Amino acid sequence: MELARTDFYLDGRWVTSPDGETLPVHNPATEEVIATVPAGRAADVDRAVAAARAAFDRWAATPPAQRAAHLDRLHAVLSAKADEIARTVALELGTPLKVASRIQAGLPLTVLHSYVELAAHFPADETVGNSTVVREPVGVVGAITPWNYPLHQVMAKLAPALAAGCTVVLKPSELTPLVTYLLFDAIHEAGLPPGVVNLVTGTGRLVGEAIAAHPDVDMVSFTGSTATGRRISHLAADRIARVALELGGKSANVILDDADLVAAVKVGVGNAFLNSGQTCTAWTRMLVHRSRYDEAVELAGKAAAAYRIGDPFDPATRLGPLVSATQRERVLGHVTRGLADGGRLVAGGPDAVVPERGWFVAPTVIADVDPDSALAQEEVFGPVLAVIPVDDEDHAVAVANNSRYGLAGAVWSTDEERAFRVARRMRTGAVDVNGAPFNPLAPFGGYKQSGLGRELGRHGLAEFLQTKAIQR
Ligand code: NAD
Repeated sequence: MELARTDFYLDGRWVTSPDGETLPVHNPATEEVIATVPAGRAADVDRAVAAARAAFDRWAATPPAQRAAHLDRLHAVLSAKADEIARTVALELGTPLKVASRIQAGLPLTVLHSYVELAAHFPADETVGNSTVVREPVGVVGAITPWNYPLHQVMAKLAPALAAGCTVVLKPSELTPLVTYLLFDAIHEAGLPPGVVNLVTGTGRLVGEAIAAHPDVDMVSFTGSTATGRRISHLAADRIARVALELGGKSANVILDDADLVAAVKVGVGNAFLNSGQTCTAWTRMLVHRSRYDEAVELAGKAAAAYRIGDPFDPATRLGPLVSATQRERVLGHVTRGLADGGRLVAGGPDAVVPERGWFVAPTVIADVDPDSALAQEEVFGPVLAVIPVDDEDHAVAVANNSRYGLAGAVWSTDEERAFRVARRMRTGAVDVNGAPFNPLAPFGGYKQSGLGRELGRHGLAEFLQTKAIQR
């Protein structure tokens, strides 16, 4: 198999997995096995953590400008692989190639570049009375990442951790490990010092748990489901290790009575279905003022029906498959339950025509969803939009906040100040007003069960620092 990989990356070298056990990687658009990667174990994690520990003091003492230069070199090497990155993610995850180029390859490069700047501007010492307050790297970081934006999720941890002076042991998702190998090829080529970043592939149960429970891992930075985040917190709590958690979401797109409805629905549907809905920030609940509700439902249905679904490598495709058969069954289960709970099917649904091979789900819009029902409360992680009518601004805020999650959201109104006021009332980590563009320097993270801590920008770097006061 051309794409097969056999090695871990430990202490600056490619090291063949000692027991030779492998895990398959699938192409979700064809259901075929396209590669295998090594299935790591606790002993492999031990070696990786030992390498990261041994490299720590030196990397932590490397002047920030030199760390920035390393990141800059990595950025140059990785940028040259942008097309290969996009193709690899299209292959192992099913993101349509055009979107993969823009987001799956483009976003991590943007994030890495931002940390070239931020690394060089490491927070200066501060004087408070007779104290000098200094910021220091936390230590060895265990990073555990999901499959939905496989390189971005890695980069959102790796770049700030390295900028801060931490060393890293990474376990990417076993469903999409191939793009991480491209990153480590680049890390090797860019000549990062040995031990500063280490890669162990494998399952969450064996490798993930070993990282989270490891006595010599000072911080666990995790992105994934809330259930796994809870498990990792428990494991880390035993030794009071720091955790950063980026978890699930059920974000609300609040469309007020004076909104530009066409834009709000068009952007809202696009957001909900991005990456086949496998986006933690997806605006999966569309809350529309009753006076505009019927019109919004019709527009959303038409927008969903217009999606071209199929081969991620066909330039006309806008929606690829879901990552796995399990994920497809889970999503279809949510749809069936949503309809049984009184939702009205407007587009898609379990019986819609999709390609025979591949783990596809048709873009689905369900209206009249009860805000307390499972479909409005549970994260679906598929191309499924729930539309909910609201009576006024207060009701919209109440429904938006009626969630155990709080990761992202949106507000639409032609009165921007009004939208801003509503945004402030939403209990969530980020809100976009009138389709404002994504800001890669803005802090990203969750309220409530969407997580702990923030990624990206200088807030993301601060997660990997601790504070010391020296009195004299
Ligand atoms: P997941 O929790 O199943 O897996 C995430 C990672 O954790 C994988 O690498 C997995 O191998 C590992 N893992 C699984 N069980 C583990 C355990 N017991 N101990 C240690 N590691 C373990 O999540 P997923 O299915 O890969 O991703 C989907 C979920 O991730 C969704 O719920 C989504 O909302 C969430 N997500 C959140 C964000 C965010 O930034 N907030 C971003 C992307 C995805």
